[in-house]
Amino acid sequence: MNRRNFLQLLPGLAAAPAAAQTMPNIVVILCDDLGYGDVGVYGSSIRTPNLDRMASEGMRFTQFTSANPVCSPSRASWLTGRYPTRVGVPKVLFPTDEKGLPDSEQTIAQALKTKGYKTMCVGKWHLGHKPAYLPMRRGFDEYFGIPYSNDMNPPVLLHNEDVVEQRATLDTLTQRYTERAVKFMENSKGAPFFLYMPHTMPHIPIAASKRFRGKSPQGLYGDVIEEIDWSVGEVLGTIKRLGLDRNTLVLFSSDNGPWFQGSPGRLRGRKGMTWEGGVRVPFIARMPGKIPAGKVCDAIASPMDVLPTVAKLCGITPKNALDGIDIWPLLSGQKKDVERDLLIYFDDVNAQCARMGRWKIHYSRYNNVTYSPAPAGGRVNLLLQTPELYDLSKDVDESYDVAPEHPEIVKQMTARLEQILQGFPEDIRSAWAQTKQKKNAESRIGTVSRQAQ
Ligand code: MG
Repeated sequence: MNRRNFLQLLPGLAAAPAAAQTMPNIVVILCDDLGYGDVGVYGSSIRTPNLDRMASEGMRFTQFTSANPVCSPSRASWLTGRYPTRVGVPKVLFPTDEKGLPDSEQTIAQALKTKGYKTMCVGKWHLGHKPAYLPMRRGFDEYFGIPYSNDMNPPVLLHNEDVVEQRATLDTLTQRYTERAVKFMENSKGAPFFLYMPHTMPHIPIAASKRFRGKSPQGLYGDVIEEIDWSVGEVLGTIKRLGLDRNTLVLFSSDNGPWFQGSPGRLRGRKGMTWEGGVRVPFIARMPGKIPAGKVCDAIASPMDVLPTVAKLCGITPKNALDGIDIWPLLSGQKKDVERDLLIYFDDVNAQCARMGRWKIHYSRYNNVTYSPAPAGGRVNLLLQTPELYDLSKDVDESYDVAPEHPEIVKQMTARLEQILQGFPEDIRSAWAQTKQKKNAESRIGTVSRQAQ
């Protein structure tokens, strides 16, 4: 019998972590543009044995909803626990942008620093690439990665704030991110750590290393996901090897839905849309002994919940008022659902949809399909002729508008939406006021024309 087996026989010591360290390590692995249907355990034919095992050893969520359908704003919500529209990052940042996530915001890394955590960001930052906004200024001890999307020029690779490659070699990127992440965890042994690992992949242009290229029956996209899955296996294997399995919370997810390749599963829409396919993403949580194994959670959850949950676990009082909530009661298996305010779906500065329990309501939509040419006169967010209401418990792909059958739900959700929006910055309130002035004159952006019936 080894020492750990012996300790587990002693009732008072059974729950003690392997190391003397008591603060939990936090690992967040975030893919870029990975769809709800791109992981084996979520129904994909792509081979993801490590993620499937992670889900079988932990909990996976079926209604984890990003706070925005594109990269920068989604990341802002992951790191701050607040709506991206509240923190000044409502849209994607480009290399021409001078600004990023404002200093008034506290990131998870900054919050954990107050408890002496070692912190590293490995991967795509995308919250401002000018020095004042880079990870090293936002609570991270070390950074390695491309500071924005890999289709932006130049896709420069940084270590801390130094340029390592002017044009990052993309095919070995996942492999190199993994090596850096493993090294960081090895070097942190003995001190609590926060590893934030936002992968560059599978955002286009996609690339995989030689070991994975041409191996998946699902083409290059499949190769890329299989390599990410391998990377997850390396991270989990390292945590186990270091004896930190029971004291490390590992979260795996994506920033938004799939773009041109990839699968949203049965959901309607893709990246850049507030249909579920644009925002609902895989979310797997693992912490053996604390999170029950092999569970599926159907409660609504959001990336905005990560900071409040981590803060609660680590005894931290966040600096700002948060939009997310502590979901530890869900993760620990104590509750099947938690009380949650109306969840708003923004695209850019525009409030387009809202969610309350099983109901999702659509209020507004752009006058063109996302990533298609803008119509003459430009892209405009228009109010639908009448709100569309979907019962996601029966209609997961938002196909059947039941607003006329449930006027009281429409009224209740709309009243709460108006109330919540009053607490948002001026640009967001003004965008909503403008949308309401632009009622859609035609039925084409809506799925059903009530007037034509
Ligand atoms: Mg993305």
